[in-house]
Amino acid sequence: MSTTSREIVIVGGGIIGSCTAYYLSQLAATRGVKATITLLEGSGIAAGASGKAGGLLAEDWHGASTSSLASLSYRLHSDLASSLSGPSRWGYRNLDTLSVSADLSPSQARARKSSVDARFDWLNKDALRETSQLGTKETTSQVHPRLFTEAMVEEAKKAGVKVVAATATGLKRTEAGGFTVLTEDQSFPATEVVVTAGPWTGRVLKQLGLKGGRASGIGGSRAHSVVLKTAEGRDLPAQALFTSIKEGRGMSEPEIYNRPDGTAYACGPTDSSPLPSLASEVKVDEQAITSIISQAGGLSPEYLAVNDGPHSATVVAKQACYLPVGSGDPVIGELEKGIYVGAGHSCWGITNGPGTGHCLAELILDGKVSSANIGRLGP
Ligand SMILES: Cc1cc2nc3c(=O)[nH]c(=O)nc-3n(C[C@H](O)[C@H](O)[C@H](O)COP(=O)(O)OP(=O)(O)OC[C@H]3O[C@@H](n4cnc5c(N)ncnc54)[C@H](O)[C@@H]3O)c2cc1C
Repeated sequence: MSTTSREIVIVGGGIIGSCTAYYLSQLAATRGVKATITLLEGSGIAAGASGKAGGLLAEDWHGASTSSLASLSYRLHSDLASSLSGPSRWGYRNLDTLSVSADLSPSQARARKSSVDARFDWLNKDALRETSQLGTKETTSQVHPRLFTEAMVEEAKKAGVKVVAATATGLKRTEAGGFTVLTEDQSFPATEVVVTAGPWTGRVLKQLGLKGGRASGIGGSRAHSVVLKTAEGRDLPAQALFTSIKEGRGMSEPEIYNRPDGTAYACGPTDSSPLPSLASEVKVDEQAITSIISQAGGLSPEYLAVNDGPHSATVVAKQACYLPVGSGDPVIGELEKGIYVGAGHSCWGITNGPGTGHCLAELILDGKVSSANIGRLGP
């Protein structure tokens, strides 16, 4: 048992901060390290993309720099689901991931693709053009991202992590080489600070007076999504679709992920709306929502169309959030002695959340990462 007490403050309670808090609490216990771990979240746990993402997990779709992180993460997702009742708590399951192209133009309506197999019975077969398998139940899975993130926080709290509803606004350095993280009306002494503020990371580092290297450039791109509930008795297959939909002269590429609770999540493209100060201030553009609902309904009129008919789907969420984007790869590592960052996961933060949290916990507690090769992801 180490006698030195660590005071670790994590800034940002999305999936990355929440998984970091969880693995810090677990690894500190197994290593006999005495640690006070505090998670600061300014807008509510999973208030940003971690609560509004699709939740597709892909094991082997990643480039050389993130492939090791992704395989660690995919395995950790599976382990967490087995040990903490993931299927019932956060909708974890394996699923097929398919590519589907369709033409919804009125003049094309009867030009049916000759051989469409039964997996696509829930779609508008007259409109389908090409289909292919992108991932199988062995290589793709899903979670409900908000429920998963909340479960990580719940488990971290059981292990002693303190969760504080507050926005970090400043950082002071102590003479002993430590830090004090400041919020509007509180201060938190820290031997280590971890910035996991998603698309706000670049801003937060600047506000705390920290040099962030690659992480300084992390910002956000807004994307909209909807969650549709099918009518009673209309069960959706365990599929995630990457689509390409032609309608007249327009093209769209919504992604549609069926969930085990009888809902389908559908998201649209990113736009250039500027990042607001807080996750709770993100605005929703009704026009973007209407387009996604119409595309999903056109592709699956029997299951996902919202209309006056007896089998109409119901819209259960209309939302927007910001993809955390920087220079390409996520940034995971130590910025300076005692200051760490885990951010910029772009469209793979739900997949790579557990691995990132695990690697950061190893780095902070052991001084090195041993469970994955993240050598190319440093700041
Ligand atoms: C439409 C969409 C669909 C997606 N689908 C998938 C998918 O299917 N699979 C996948 O793997 N990934 C997906 N992603 C990507 C994934 O959602 C993100 O990479 C991930 O959620 C990022 O997590 P994060 O914790 O870094 O950031 P966030 O979830 O944005 O969390 C950051 C948190 O920090 C808080 N914060 C900011 N500043 C402060 C401060 N000063 N003090 C305290 N708290 C602060 C914010 O309030 C926020 O809660 C999707 C993203 C989008 C936009």
